[in-house]
Amino acid sequence: PETITVQELANRMAERGGNVIKTLMKLGVMATINQVIDADTAELVVEEFGHKAKRVSDADVEIGLVSGPDTEAEMMSRPPVVTVMGHVDHGKTSLLDAMRSTDVVSGEAGGITQHIGAYQVQVPSGDRITFIDTPGHAAFTAMRARGAEVTDIVVLVVAANDGIMPQTIEAIRHAQAAKVPMVVAINKIDLPEADPNRVRTELLQHDVVVEEMGGDVQTVEVSAKKRMNLDKLVEAILLQSEILDLKANPDRTAEGAVVEAKMERGRGSVATVLIQRGTLRVGDTFVCGKEWGRVRALVNERGERVEEAGPSVPVEVLGFNGTPEAGDDFIAVEDEAKAREVSGYRQRKDRETQFVKSARGSMEQMFERI
Ligand code: GDP
Ligand code: MG
Repeated sequence: PETITVQELANRMAERGGNVIKTLMKLGVMATINQVIDADTAELVVEEFGHKAKRVSDADVEIGLVSGPDTEAEMMSRPPVVTVMGHVDHGKTSLLDAMRSTDVVSGEAGGITQHIGAYQVQVPSGDRITFIDTPGHAAFTAMRARGAEVTDIVVLVVAANDGIMPQTIEAIRHAQAAKVPMVVAINKIDLPEADPNRVRTELLQHDVVVEEMGGDVQTVEVSAKKRMNLDKLVEAILLQSEILDLKANPDRTAEGAVVEAKMERGRGSVATVLIQRGTLRVGDTFVCGKEWGRVRALVNERGERVEEAGPSVPVEVLGFNGTPEAGDDFIAVEDEAKAREVSGYRQRKDRETQFVKSARGSMEQMFERI
């Protein structure tokens, strides 16, 4: 049901909270300033004040924010977005660092030096791959919990000397639950005790049937440390990507998801946004979770300023009015009025939810004391 706090109702009518409370009393409703009342009651109050009520609901504010499906003709192929998962110490960070060095665009100019939560490499074939640079399951599940499904392919890292471990199984479960295909990187094959076939056999026990066993999950034997077979891993990712036939319309207003966000001295709130549809440009106005802003600058993983970012491109966005959270949606909108409306609506909604939660909490405490 739709609700509003007494304070918010007063704000929107530009009336004193005390007067709203008095009016509520007249209507037989005893409420405090922070209390939540239902929409019907609020409407009565509004009429008492001689205003005309206009209900703003999810339907009004949120619908049309994300534009409808694109036509087949508008869809262009886009790079895959890859998340690396696996057991602790199996080499996730090492592999992400190694993959960074496969980029041919960086040259000697400095390479991918910025840790912005995601980076894109262009491999020698000219293909591009986007890596989410925060390995681990927490980031993956936190994003999914917030409704952000950014990952196209999971690279499951399994150390060949260690085999399947608890967090490997957890990673498999996450990938399966999200219906994201896996490519298994059997790492540390430089070690004498490496036993890649044992890894393949063990995977079978967790419903991961690798190609060598008649399934469709690719495995690649690599060494992140010695940089062995990184090209083969790239090939496997690109093949998987081709099978998925990943596409997006670059020619529309941008939509994406926050991968990482923080407050930085001198720069304000910055967030790394992974663009999923459309193209984001400097000057665009946007809504992002409960926040909004206008793109002041876009910065890539090499620390360079760019004018625009299209599908599967991770980019650092400057120009937020507040700090969003990882997993928040990011939507370019037509103007500031729309951005303010949506952001304001979402903040109110959030406050009301928080209030209901804390009210419930204090009620429970009260009953505990009795
Ligand atoms: P993470 O916890 O999964 O991120 O693992 P790290 O990347 O931090 O690696 C854990 C340890 O394994 C480090 O000491 C790495 O140097 C080592 N390591 C990573 N990859 C390899 C590899 O291919 N071969 C060997 N011998 N050691 C590796
Ligand atoms: Mg690590």
